[in-house]
Amino acid sequence: MKLICIGRNYAEHIEELENEKPEEPVVFLKPDTSILLKKHPFFIPDFSNEIHHEVEVLVKINRVGKHIDKKFAHKYYNEIGLGIDFTARDLQNKLKKKGLPWEKAKGFDGAAVVGQWLSKSKFKDLNSISFSLKKNETTVQEGNTSNMLWKIDEIIEYVSKYFTLKIGDIIFTGTPSGVSRVEVNDKLKGYIENEEMFSVTVK
Ligand code: MG
Repeated sequence: MKLICIGRNYAEHIEELENEKPEEPVVFLKPDTSILLKKHPFFIPDFSNEIHHEVEVLVKINRVGKHIDKKFAHKYYNEIGLGIDFTARDLQNKLKKKGLPWEKAKGFDGAAVVGQWLSKSKFKDLNSISFSLKKNETTVQEGNTSNMLWKIDEIIEYVSKYFTLKIGDIIFTGTPSGVSRVEVNDKLKGYIENEEMFSVTVK
């Protein structure tokens, strides 16, 4: 399976990193080995001094598809989740400056937190899901899928032009503003509405 991630999908987050607003979705992949094992802590890797949390709504693909029209995209997923796209921001900035791929900064072991899954039928409107991240009991990121530049079904249409989607693939739909550095002993908890979706300790 693969993790397909969308970057720069919330305007305020684009501003906080001083990135340009993209004309098309920014897409990158993480390998399956980047998934943090359940109940394991996240270990800060030795090649970075600036690991950022990016809380993101996740979509789990449940049908094989290619060139999916956004009208039919909803048939390709049943579950919505929440996770973290951990990013070695210092390394990413170096790579970006040189125009090199970001994989080392985004795809290292443990860089993808995948929380529990909820049936999409639980939601009245998938384009109005509120979610948040607490760091040590303080809310540091708050988002709502209504603020996505590209909505879930548009993302599926776009990425399936390039990649065949397979059962079990996970889409990371981008992070809202509020990303910040994590430190040893931080406790990160993610919520969709008021439901806890994951809890991760940083080591
Ligand atoms: Mg991200």
